[in-house]
Amino acid sequence: MSKIAVYPGSFDPITYGHIDIAKRALKLFDKLIIMISVNPTKKTLFTAEERKWLVEKALEDVKNYVTVVINEELTVKKARELGATHIVRGLRAVTDFEYEFQMTTANRVLDDTIDSVFFMTDSRFSFLSSNNVKEIARFKGELDAFVPEIVKEKLKEKYL
Ligand code: ADP
Repeated sequence: MSKIAVYPGSFDPITYGHIDIAKRALKLFDKLIIMISVNPTKKTLFTAEERKWLVEKALEDVKNYVTVVINEELTVKKARELGATHIVRGLRAVTDFEYEFQMTTANRVLDDTIDSVFFMTDSRFSFLSSNNVKEIARFKGELDAFVPEIVKEKLKEKYL
């Protein structure tokens, strides 16, 4: 039976940090479903459809093993519907731990059959977040080390 995991997040936009985690997860799982989480209380720069499109473009080289979905439900509920057994998340620094610990505990209460697994990012990306990428883009900074070309182009369009 193939092993399927979901990788939920805002991906606003996808960065090399997310890509690093997705590729590490693909060494363990046969299929990865990237879940673009829609949270109406969270203001995003890109629409869910734009974020999905950018994730697909950024992971084109592993497209046979990756599916991208937009999710408006609870992560564990959607994960189960899609036949996933695990939730993948990335850890950058200790600061991520507290939040991830709370989320995992809550998810476990909701559905104990879906477990979370964490991958530590490459040290090159441990200070990288979608938020600081947006900040750099807004001030027209150099983005080559942080995001693929297509993401860079779309960020430039947003901050003309
Ligand atoms: P969320 O809004 O759910 O935190 P993000 O898109 O910011 O969504 O992140 C999704 C997941 O990817 C989280 O587990 C986050 O810790 C991880 N992640 C984000 N940036 C990086 C990075 N540079 N290195 C490793 N993991 C990362």
